[in-house]
Amino acid sequence: MKINLLDFDAAGLTAWFAEMGEKPFRAKQVLRWVHQFGEDDCERMTDVARSLRARLAELAEVRAPQVVGDSTAADGTRKWLLDVGNGNAVETVFIPGENRGTLCISTQAGCALDCAFCSTGKQGFNRNLTAGEIVGQLWWAKKALGDFRSAQKPDDDAEDGRIISNVVLMGMGEPLANYDNTVTALRLMLDDNAYGLSRRRVTVSTSGIVPAMDRLGNDCPVALAISLHAPNDALRDRLVPINTKYPLAKLMAACKRYLEKSPRDFVTFEYVMLEGINDSEEHARELVRLVRDVPCKLNLIPFNPFPDSGFRRSSAARMRRFVEILVQAHIITTTRKTRGDDIDAACGQLAGQVQDRTQRRQKRTISIAETAS
Ligand code: SAH
Ligand code: SF4
Repeated sequence: MKINLLDFDAAGLTAWFAEMGEKPFRAKQVLRWVHQFGEDDCERMTDVARSLRARLAELAEVRAPQVVGDSTAADGTRKWLLDVGNGNAVETVFIPGENRGTLCISTQAGCALDCAFCSTGKQGFNRNLTAGEIVGQLWWAKKALGDFRSAQKPDDDAEDGRIISNVVLMGMGEPLANYDNTVTALRLMLDDNAYGLSRRRVTVSTSGIVPAMDRLGNDCPVALAISLHAPNDALRDRLVPINTKYPLAKLMAACKRYLEKSPRDFVTFEYVMLEGINDSEEHARELVRLVRDVPCKLNLIPFNPFPDSGFRRSSAARMRRFVEILVQAHIITTTRKTRGDDIDAACGQLAGQVQDRTQRRQKRTISIAETAS
């Protein structure tokens, strides 16, 4: 198989070019073609030397994941289903906002961490996505939304004119369990010769893999969101099993260390609201005590149901009371709007339907095969 140009960040491409005897500025040119103009035909990279163009065309290609589904919700949220081989699919979701557009990207097919309320977790772990598959989701979405610059007007890229202004690694998978590929993709997102996104507008969401949080702070600090979901270890052990390895005291200490490196002066704590499980007044008070000395914002996520989850979304009244207690303690609290739930694009619903569809497709293939034979 040909080399995928989407797999290289600037350092990687420069190193590969050096092996071929090419100068570093060639890597910069190619990065711009691929990630700023969305060009996937090496022969059309006009300012690249003809000899290099021919070699690239022979050895390499721009291989974004193959799109096998594309749906738009009533609220404008758009979801692409991407085939990543062996019957695995991942999802990318674009969420338009009033003055920003957010792309939610997946980092793994499935997830091994098995959080109790997450449909991706219930699916089990298939494999890590490559760096090219991670950044390829951004490449593809920019293509589909017409958000690449024109090679004719290469400097026309006002930050506030972009359709995709923010990227969140909150799709399927645990980004910090696929560390190297995630960081390569992040570097491309931030690189001025590639997507040129501000560190503050790229967010990694993690269930709390403490050593990898420290590495990220050193290697590639971006905005950080932590999937907290419970205010004490006993409950978090049940909801987010990785907590048994990295309990809350360690996690809170890691958040403080991260803040010394972070482009933002707060971390975001995500807290999914599960009726009768983690949403009582006592839980709210316990949460206040837990996060009181960590500069943070709290983002409450109404639970998004999926078949046989065994959980229910907290009622509006319970959520209101919960918010009240946090706000009284001066914790900045927002409640996430549920977006795209009519196309199963809401948080934690990703891939809930994929398996069904895959199985259905398999069944259909089998029955077609039977009919044919
Ligand atoms: N693995 C990473 C990122 C992907 S999950 C993480 O766990 O942070 C993105 C967010 O959606 C996480 O906060 C996750 O806890 C939340 N989530 C998972 N399942 C959900 C569901 N059914 N309803 C609402 N939010 C959910
Ligand atoms: Fe994995 Fe995040 Fe889902 Fe937990 S919530 S199972 S870490 S994707």
